[in-house]
Amino acid sequence: MSPVKMAAKNEFRILGRREGNEEPIRFTYRGVEFHPDCFHVVAGLNAVDTREYTERTFRALKEAGQVCARMGAYKPRTSPYSFQGYGKQCLPYVFELAGKHGIRVISMEVTRDEHLDEIRAALRATGEATGVMLQIGTRNTQNFELLKAVGSQRDFPILIKRGFGITLHESLLAAEYVAAAGNRDIVFCLRGMKTHLGDPHRNLVDFAHIPVVKRLTRMPVCIDPSHSVGLRGADPDGLPDIFHAAAQGIVSGANLVLTDIHPEPRKALVDGAQALSLEELPAFLEDCAIAREAYLKRRSRLTAGQRQETQMNADEPQMNAEKA
Ligand code: PEP
Ligand code: MN
Repeated sequence: MSPVKMAAKNEFRILGRREGNEEPIRFTYRGVEFHPDCFHVVAGLNAVDTREYTERTFRALKEAGQVCARMGAYKPRTSPYSFQGYGKQCLPYVFELAGKHGIRVISMEVTRDEHLDEIRAALRATGEATGVMLQIGTRNTQNFELLKAVGSQRDFPILIKRGFGITLHESLLAAEYVAAAGNRDIVFCLRGMKTHLGDPHRNLVDFAHIPVVKRLTRMPVCIDPSHSVGLRGADPDGLPDIFHAAAQGIVSGANLVLTDIHPEPRKALVDGAQALSLEELPAFLEDCAIAREAYLKRRSRLTAGQRQETQMNADEPQMNAEKA
């Protein structure tokens, strides 16, 4: 192998998959297992809403047998005049109600390291009723100081989103920043790329990169069909575009599916256009299960010999490495 290629492969020193470093990233948090073979839907409010809507959301998740949720308290918004999230003010009821409804892990975006202290304090006040996975949003994928801050604590695992306007290589290096700071409990999330070429979808769906992330690194991979598609259109048979995008990612091996839901999507404080209703949740989960089964079937078709052969032929062409 050429020295250049070796260098590229070693660039993801901790998270990279290579000979001698093939063991999947695997962690258990609050009794929920995360690894490149797990499957969880992480549905919930894009932005935390009233106590009533929050409780209705958790109740629907519980009734659907879910133990993970998403809840945005700190919202990085494009406009300074848009709702910025309820912040620490909503944490007490979010954590209390999560615990009440058996939700064990909440994916929650943080935008500065002080948010970790606010989350710690609120969790403590509810007797650690639930757990939090720190979400790094696409606008912060290259906020290196934030990456180091979340990477240098061990209380919470981290879900890091791909940057919507940078290369995959750069986003994987962002995940490597977190790992290099000490915390390897990381999930990498694809969420679509910003370009008008994806119109009318909000972003261009990038889930074809799932197998690429899996062969370059050892991380479990999440997809966010809500932010990728961003609208509620459906095909003539009635299957929503968001269901299709989710299925496309799951059929390629996605391990987590981050999804916006809301009791009254039209009244949602942020991104209502992409939220599924609570009534749609059971059908969405069923659709995800169908796609997961298809993925497992596709994978089991491969014989051990075929698997070895494809791996041997998978020499990576150089990635477009734009570096800052
Ligand atoms: C979100 O998940 O709430 C979010 C803001 O996503 P992204 O960072 O991918 O835009
Ligand atoms: Mn959003």
